[in-house]
Amino acid sequence: MITIDGAAGEGGGQVLRTSLSLALCTGQAFRIEDIRAGRERPGLMRQHLTAVEAARAVGAADCEGAALGSGTLEFRPGTVRPGEYRFAVGTAGSATLVLQTVLPPLLAASGPSRLVLEGGTHNPHAPPFEFLDQTFLAQLNRMGPQVTATLERPGFYPAGGGRMVVEVAPAARLSPLALVDRGDLLGVEAVARVAGLHPDIAAKEIQAAQRVLDWGEDCFRTEELPAEWGPGNVLLLTARFAAVTEVVAGFGERGVSAHTVGEKAAKRMAGFVASGAAVGPYLADQLLLPMALAGHGEFTTVKPSRHARTDAEVIRHFLGTRVDFIEAADGPWRVEVRG
Ligand code: AMP
Repeated sequence: MITIDGAAGEGGGQVLRTSLSLALCTGQAFRIEDIRAGRERPGLMRQHLTAVEAARAVGAADCEGAALGSGTLEFRPGTVRPGEYRFAVGTAGSATLVLQTVLPPLLAASGPSRLVLEGGTHNPHAPPFEFLDQTFLAQLNRMGPQVTATLERPGFYPAGGGRMVVEVAPAARLSPLALVDRGDLLGVEAVARVAGLHPDIAAKEIQAAQRVLDWGEDCFRTEELPAEWGPGNVLLLTARFAAVTEVVAGFGERGVSAHTVGEKAAKRMAGFVASGAAVGPYLADQLLLPMALAGHGEFTTVKPSRHARTDAEVIRHFLGTRVDFIEAADGPWRVEVRG
């Protein structure tokens, strides 16, 4: 049985999710201790427990320690069963991160799957739906499988209530992907959405973003969603290149001004565009696992996050994959994944 230290490196939920995914993909059992020890409220929270339960269902797994607050888990996978599943986080916990857990084993499963995921779709510290769809799944689909995601209703923190449907047509196996050149910039867009909150919030985010990004005026807009979907706010900045689309999100938070949310997100987008890299910081950590399963992959990126380095270590435990993070004298970093 593989032993994973949940406190290692970043010490967050991704250590657990990557372990669950790879246990299902490889059939190897694992034990994880000190789950999310690097977080303010360590152990399994509702969202992580939903990910464990989802993994157990998809992989007919045996599992000990799956309880709220638990710091230790043992997971023995059975056979992956594609098909129809519904996973509800039950709070505003991220539904996209539950998908991140169960998607890898379904990509090369023996048949198609249809997943209904309920919970948060636009949470801080998790991929927002648009990133999942346009940034992550778009690249995954270049590796062979066809995965489509439909947002039926957004769910914001803390109210939740979001719903998305994900259809997976698997490939026999994942093909390697090289994402070194992002290609020409084809289009940009900034949209600030509010649900059940004052529209001024969205307007201020857009004004702040406009001061940072030299994008044409008609690239910026605000949108009011039905009040019953809120309260919620998200700013989405999208840059579409020929080979990759980057979506940078900013989320309204209590105690943080709309101006700050807009400015911070815009500076992150400006930094990415100026870097010349193909892959942003979040896509970088999320591509490592599928590339490792494919046996090879490479991409250019911005300075690798602790998430990415930690994830590379977890992947190495399961697959023996080598991930090299190579700093260039000038220009972006390069990441090479070798099976
Ligand atoms: P953890 O903090 O360990 O629970 O992992 C969070 C995961 O969410 C990582 O895979 C991040 O790449 C991803 N993530 C966090 N924030 C964003 C964001 N703004 N856009 C896309 N992905 C994100």
